[in-house]
Amino acid sequence: SKGKIITVVGSGLIGRSWAMVFLSGGYRVKIYDNQPGQASRAIAEIRKQVEELQEAQMLRGKLSASEQLSLLSSHDDLSQALEGAFFVQECVFEELQAKQTVFQAVENHVGEDTILSSSTSCLMPSNVFSLVQNPKRCIISHPVNPPYYVRLVELVPHPETLPTAMDMAFELMTEVGQAPVRLRKEIDGFALNRVQYAIIAECWRLVEDNVISVKDIDLVMSEGLGMRYAFIGPIETMHLNAPNGLEDYLGRYREGMRRVLSSFGPIPEFDGEAAARINKEICEFIPSDQEHLSARRERRDQLLMGLAKLKK
Ligand code: NAD
Repeated sequence: SKGKIITVVGSGLIGRSWAMVFLSGGYRVKIYDNQPGQASRAIAEIRKQVEELQEAQMLRGKLSASEQLSLLSSHDDLSQALEGAFFVQECVFEELQAKQTVFQAVENHVGEDTILSSSTSCLMPSNVFSLVQNPKRCIISHPVNPPYYVRLVELVPHPETLPTAMDMAFELMTEVGQAPVRLRKEIDGFALNRVQYAIIAECWRLVEDNVISVKDIDLVMSEGLGMRYAFIGPIETMHLNAPNGLEDYLGRYREGMRRVLSSFGPIPEFDGEAAARINKEICEFIPSDQEHLSARRERRDQLLMGLAKLKK
């Protein structure tokens, strides 16, 4: 990573997190934002966070806080920000047009080999990169919030993305301590949100149908499935849950799984009376004012920090 430059375009929540992840790997990071002054405010915020992480002994990478921060710069000029970059991570608003325009502009200021990567959560690569001239080096690197503790990155190719571009992104993400996975082709929602929405839908239906309370369905995940899923996925879970592995599991549970799955209801509306009731129930133990929400977010991040330590 010595001296190599990564440019982060868009310095909101995710842009700042990416910058911290790349700094931890020893990369020079240049931050650009089109709101004047926003990139330098982002640097002040990163400085504070990196120093706090060092104090909590949670700073990632081999470099000290001051060494990492010396690699960071902010730019209000796009061409200056992109000068010398071998990798560009876009983190602007989740709006198709904004991203298309950004990549069109970025392409004019970088060499042929620079990898162009988007943080989009739910736009398709073929749309995000539809205006670039050379989509072969374009990919999506979708992080999970907060990326500093939740390391997964979904790498999603454009139909024309070269395997070497995917390999380079994979190597970079691994080197900076993230946990990259490759999707072989684009699909709406990628993998993470497809699985997440399947879980949300069934939890919602169970509460909507008065089978279980909001508090208890969340415990089903946090005290049950989530305990395992922090370390092993659903396929390994099946493999381990029958004496002789996956085929044995299927022999025992195939019929039951299919029976239960066939009883699932339709896609919830996530609206109306059910939404009002579920909102009321969650707000009874976490009121939706900023004070309570911030406290719960802080608690979440502290717990994730501990879990990240444990997983290491
Ligand atoms: P945000 O609103 O916090 O930050 C966006 C930043 O981009 C702002 O600072 C804004 O000034 C800047 N910006 C907007 N247009 C720009 C342009 N044309 N050029 C340069 N900068 C521009 O948003 P965020 O939460 O950081 O999300 C950024 C991206 O990351 C989105 O695509 C989002 O879907 C994705 N993402 C977010 C999360 C999350 O949990 N927040 C998780 C994974 C992926």
